[in-house]
Amino acid sequence: MKIKSLSIFLALGLGFSFNSFSQNIKVRIFSDQTITHATIRSSFGRYSLSLDNNSPITITKTSKVDIKSKDQKVEVKINDSLYGCFNNIVFNKEGLRSFFQIETNIKSLTRRYDDNLIVNSDNKGLRLINNIETENYIAGVVQAETWGATKNVDFFKIQAICVRNYIMMNIAKHKKDGYQMCDAVHCQAYKGRANQPEVIEGAYNSKGEIIVDINGNIIETLFHSNSGGQTVSSEDVWGKPFSHLVGKIDSFSVGLKAYAWEKYIPLKDWQRYFKEKEVNVKDDSIKNELLNFSQNEGRKKEMLGVSLVQIRKDFNLRSTFFSCQEWGSEVKLNGKGYGHGVGLSQEGAIKMCDEGFEYWQVIEHYYTGAKIKRIDEDKLLGEN
Ligand SMILES: [Zn+2]
Repeated sequence: MKIKSLSIFLALGLGFSFNSFSQNIKVRIFSDQTITHATIRSSFGRYSLSLDNNSPITITKTSKVDIKSKDQKVEVKINDSLYGCFNNIVFNKEGLRSFFQIETNIKSLTRRYDDNLIVNSDNKGLRLINNIETENYIAGVVQAETWGATKNVDFFKIQAICVRNYIMMNIAKHKKDGYQMCDAVHCQAYKGRANQPEVIEGAYNSKGEIIVDINGNIIETLFHSNSGGQTVSSEDVWGKPFSHLVGKIDSFSVGLKAYAWEKYIPLKDWQRYFKEKEVNVKDDSIKNELLNFSQNEGRKKEMLGVSLVQIRKDFNLRSTFFSCQEWGSEVKLNGKGYGHGVGLSQEGAIKMCDEGFEYWQVIEHYYTGAKIKRIDEDKLLGEN
């Protein structure tokens, strides 16, 4: 089916039942930091501030709100006047589009966030929860992950869908904590609002879209920087097979920025390492393999019985996809790719988008048998 007709099909078939309103998601911010006090200002738009059950106070762009953790409550000052201590404060946007700035006791952590903020306090300090439109959160995560790599909206759509899959599969992770995601790597790194227009467009244009496998089940959308020209099966890295994470030739990643790498390792260290792994390094044929190991014909899983995943970890290599040769008193590793190599290659995906492939074709290339599925957003966030 040609691409355009597919989107028409989606619009006619499923589009009408799709809820166009965004649902909010609660994301704990600064979750791995101890925040004792912070200053909040509106960066764009007006806010209202609710202090427990008191009537809301309007916060304009010139207002400054200081909050401080005190006896498991939140002390609030507005423009330097003390308002008291409260259990729960809510900083709500009044317009459609607003974002705020927050400065904390950790000096390097001034950040901007979209939408709303809920604050309370426990015995460790302030608990800051960004109550944010899901697509704005997704855009923030994508921007934290993609280092402004491209301006191609289709690529950001793909990344946004991967983030959405993650949310849906992990929505209950913090249920007992009173929010849905944290902003650390425990969930997905999130460092504030996205400001790259293409990233925001990618999140909103893919609204309600997730990726499912051949049986219609939502999948884990693993990705890495560059496959080196061949992706890896999940079972070769983690021992668990998935129908959509099957190694395949990936010519799109060849020759790009993170495609090739080199590393020199002292010959002695290299030999000692394999000796410690109980490889008989004195045997001539083994010695030859030790210095001439090659993956030029394709990826292998092990070298002299030692898993390449382990070797990568122990020598801190960019990938497991390397060949080696003797180089004076050293061993030279010629490597390809960056990352575990499972699933989607980010650089390869950008290349495919730039070459005119549709975003769903890129998804089908990297996730074997996978398809896009549209869902209502209330299904995404469940009953949380
Ligand atoms: Zn988390």
